[in-house]
Amino acid sequence: MDAFDNQTKHDTLIHDKPDSLTHDEKSPVLEISGLSTEYPTPRGTVHAVRGVDLVLGKGDILAIVGESGCGKSACLLSIMRLVPPPGRIVKGSVKFRGKELLALSEAEMRELRGKDMAMVFQDPMTTLNPAYRVGEQISESLRVHRLLPGFPGRLLRKERERERERVIDLLKQVGIPSPEHRHLEYPHQFSGGMQQRILIAIALACRPKVILADEPTTALDVTVQAQVLDLMREINEELGTAIVLVTHDLGVAAEFCYKAAVMYAGQIVESGGIEDVLSSPLHPYTRGLLKSIPKIGQRRELVPINGEVPDLTDLSEGCSFAPRCREAYSYCERTSPPLVHLKNGRKVRCHLYT
Ligand code: SF4
Repeated sequence: MDAFDNQTKHDTLIHDKPDSLTHDEKSPVLEISGLSTEYPTPRGTVHAVRGVDLVLGKGDILAIVGESGCGKSACLLSIMRLVPPPGRIVKGSVKFRGKELLALSEAEMRELRGKDMAMVFQDPMTTLNPAYRVGEQISESLRVHRLLPGFPGRLLRKERERERERVIDLLKQVGIPSPEHRHLEYPHQFSGGMQQRILIAIALACRPKVILADEPTTALDVTVQAQVLDLMREINEELGTAIVLVTHDLGVAAEFCYKAAVMYAGQIVESGGIEDVLSSPLHPYTRGLLKSIPKIGQRRELVPINGEVPDLTDLSEGCSFAPRCREAYSYCERTSPPLVHLKNGRKVRCHLYT
């Protein structure tokens, strides 16, 4: 999908969260506060995630947007406690239904991953195991979490049949044609879109309460992208699954999400309802992102954001966006802006609002 299509969607598809899904704001499914993750490197410590706060209620769909290298994927990996070593979470709290995940043992986390919180990665080719049939990869999740009778241990014929039925049901649910036959095929026998659907089937196998999706449609063409997003919305509406969608595509965020968090240099710099953030952006970075994509019906010059994302090993004392900000003043370079809470649940990290 190109930026022009994205903006069309932005203009036409912004929607409000259904009323039935708003009641659970008071009892969050996922509550993240002060989450900070670092990667030691020979060049210095990469401060990939810096004090991220997020709250997700039942049925919420949150977009985390921003340029590449802003810490979006590192944030999702931190929530799942899948930060590859030597990276480590250095501070903060991640609570799933009130339970502190950072205090759990690795065995307890393994029990929770897949069953309560699942992750869909960007590239199915590198996530699916080429040596196993797709049906086996889906049923593995059911086996690990003992969600079918007889697991773990040797399966009786009747139990194997139930497992097969469940896998076929899941493939049907994600729109794989002829699942009775195709569950026996290998990943390379599926197209990119179909592989992404299989990843979603794996994520759905245990009916998790939260799905964290890292650019799940980036590698897909526009038709398949729409199908995958429709599928995820159906899951959200039917099961009340909360979804965090990492994307650099504002069109996808506008079409699919109810809330938005804009990330820059490892921090959330603006957050709020998707319509508020996209129609009246507060932070100069969000405004820059929106000005740099075309808008349908408007003939105007696109204005790129000057400069590049900062080196996360060498962050300044002041606002990280200051070297690129057209509205910066001398104070910005010396002092880091606090997160300011405004009306309608909007938050912004900028001295213009202090
Ligand atoms: Fe720009 Fe200053 Fe706001 Fe940073 S704090 S975004 S430099 S105006």
